[in-house]
Amino acid sequence: MNEALWQEIQPWMLQIRRKIHQHPELGLNTPKTAALVEASLDELGVDHRRIIENGVLAQVGPKEGEALLLRADMDGLPVTEQTRLPFSSCEPNRMHACGHDAHTAMLLGAAYYLSRCESELTHPVTLMFQPGEEGPGGALPMIEAGVLSFPSVSRAVMAHVDSELPWGSIGVFSGPAMASPNDFVIKVFGQGGHAAHPQLSADAIVASSAIIQGCQTLVSREQNPVEPLVITFGTIHGGYRENVIADGVELTGTIRILSPDGMDAILERFVNMVEQIAQSYRTRAEVAISRGYPPLVADAGWTNEVEALLRRELGSQAVLRLPAPSMGAEDFAYIAQRVPATNLHVGVVGPDFVRGIHSSQFNLDERALMTGAKAYAAVALYL
Ligand SMILES: [Zn+2]
Ligand SMILES: [Zn+2]
Repeated sequence: MNEALWQEIQPWMLQIRRKIHQHPELGLNTPKTAALVEASLDELGVDHRRIIENGVLAQVGPKEGEALLLRADMDGLPVTEQTRLPFSSCEPNRMHACGHDAHTAMLLGAAYYLSRCESELTHPVTLMFQPGEEGPGGALPMIEAGVLSFPSVSRAVMAHVDSELPWGSIGVFSGPAMASPNDFVIKVFGQGGHAAHPQLSADAIVASSAIIQGCQTLVSREQNPVEPLVITFGTIHGGYRENVIADGVELTGTIRILSPDGMDAILERFVNMVEQIAQSYRTRAEVAISRGYPPLVADAGWTNEVEALLRRELGSQAVLRLPAPSMGAEDFAYIAQRVPATNLHVGVVGPDFVRGIHSSQFNLDERALMTGAKAYAAVALYL
């Protein structure tokens, strides 16, 4: 790659990252960030259009052929920044604590590089800038609006900062790589009465405690122990006072599963078990599950190809196979369901590192931006 060109790109990319960092936007509501992305693409002369309200699709390279998709997300988190950086967030209770500012800047850095050597591209490259990754999800609406269709995308790569890896490195993982988070609300209906006469009532609290205990056996007795599953009850509310038997309890929680194959079956068993335990205590339970993003499955063959290329372009010592998947979630999973896809874990730990992503003190080493941008560009040029 042309190192002199990268030296020209670096300050441009950093300045964009810092501008985005100062003005984080949340969820699908990222109009200023999307406008900054568009202005930067205009500067480069790269074609772009909005395909959902705040989702930008840009294109470089030939118009015909099977496209490679590169994705960056643009949204921040409702966190109050405590980094004391000179370019800290100016917005109260908003922070780019997950590094999406860096992802957007890296992909624009790659756009800069690719726009200068566009004639070398042998296939179209789709650059996807999406809102809402932290929820409610921007990838699916962008797919529905045609991000994979015009031109037709045949493989995809995303990058995400990794606060457990040193800057300059990139981690890869193939197979089920990130979990599906599914939230639930359980309402247990009993019959209230005097605490002194339990035989005349149906106690929703005792039924709920049996439900909480019983569901853990799905993890310990029904799930293959080498396939991760987490069932967490986060809240429990019910009852009136010490001498009244509770007629209703509400429980909420989350079920995180890594394997896409086992997902439907385990959710079905969960609902079944809750309903039947409730029944056996003479109560009734209603279970509502809101399905989260699917598990992110990185395609093994495509991940191998990307890994081999990055070893060649960035040096073998810069690229590592991660030892384990993550129970975190990622809506790029919807793209990985449709085309072979993989996730680049861009290491960001440097001397000023304090805490990891989603922390108010998260501070990435900006030298990592160059590694991420080069990786994006290399995949576009050579795969
Ligand atoms: Zn995040
Ligand atoms: Zn993130």
